Amino acid sequence: MSKNYYIIPIFVPHLGCPHDCVFCNQKRITGLSTDVTEDYVNKTIMEYLNTFPKRNITVEVAFYGGSFTGIDKAIQRKLLAVPLKYKEEGKIQGIRLSTRPDYIDHEILSLLKEYKVDTIELGVQSLCDDVLEKSGRGHNSNQVYVASKLIKDYGFNSGLQMMIGLVGDNREKSLYTAREFVKLNPYCVRIYPTLVIKDTFLEKLYQRNLYKPLTLNEAIDITTDILMLFQFHNIHVIRVGLQPTDNITLGKDVVAGPFHPSFRQLVESNIIRIILKEYLDEKIRSYFNDTLIIEANGKTVSYIAGQKSSNIDYLKKIYGFKKVKIYNNNELNFDTLNITLGGYTEQLDRKTGIKEHLSKLKLIEG
Ligand code: SF4
Repeated sequence: MSKNYYIIPIFVPHLGCPHDCVFCNQKRITGLSTDVTEDYVNKTIMEYLNTFPKRNITVEVAFYGGSFTGIDKAIQRKLLAVPLKYKEEGKIQGIRLSTRPDYIDHEILSLLKEYKVDTIELGVQSLCDDVLEKSGRGHNSNQVYVASKLIKDYGFNSGLQMMIGLVGDNREKSLYTAREFVKLNPYCVRIYPTLVIKDTFLEKLYQRNLYKPLTLNEAIDITTDILMLFQFHNIHVIRVGLQPTDNITLGKDVVAGPFHPSFRQLVESNIIRIILKEYLDEKIRSYFNDTLIIEANGKTVSYIAGQKSSNIDYLKKIYGFKKVKIYNNNELNFDTLNITLGGYTEQLDRKTGIKEHLSKLKLIEG
């Protein structure tokens, strides 16, 4: 039986980060303003472990936010010693952290090895130097390639985080970054659309009309192609869109931008819509008053219908279907859709659909 995966998040707000990326107010993003101590880490781990089932689980402690390896090394050691103890006792199985590409070198990686860290995620954001500069990142793309290689050479899992809609960014540049990520072959990636957060330099640019955020539809459109690209290359996408919190929501700390609490679901549903559209368009026939029946694995069913049945409404409107029925069939795998039209059933493979779409856009060969 496969084990259930649990994560214990520990936010390290702005501790160790002297930078001021235009989009970041680290204290607001994490929702915390206190400095993290080893007591806090210990208490957090204990509290989470008490809520988890006792058996058949894999637990990972994750230091998020800030730039972990930029913190004073003595503090890094104190903080890492806590999860290390739990790992050695077999109470947790993994340790991960996130940091900046320019805070990676041999000395840092040796320290992280000593404390049995498993995964290092790099906040890359873009691999276009002009975008990095306009975003005030304070590092260049070359430092990402060097750090990513070093992390792998030391035997860590490497995670890469990218943002879309940054200052000076556009669709082509975001897709370039995603394709470069594929070449770096990371263990996992995260994709974040840029949001205008309160009390950031980006907010000032936005108020002076010097920055225009992506609309929600633009963000969905760009992220759809990027997610397809990563899925095609079997790269594990662990997050799409910023996690909503009490403050990370429009009208609170999010001043503007493509925020949606279920952003990933919107993107996954758009992937299914594109695949179905390309399949139905190829048939070159009228569907007027037909019934379309789609069977899929339970994990895929909600993506097929779309948020508030938006895909069903779309298919009815564009093709004139009288009814679109969707059924759960857990004997099918995640990528297979059984499509019944006019009494005939055909299998549609999601991955083949993704391949065809990416080929048309010339994002992959073939
Ligand atoms: S490096 Fe990270 S924590 Fe520091 S300002 Fe930039 S995004 Fe925020």
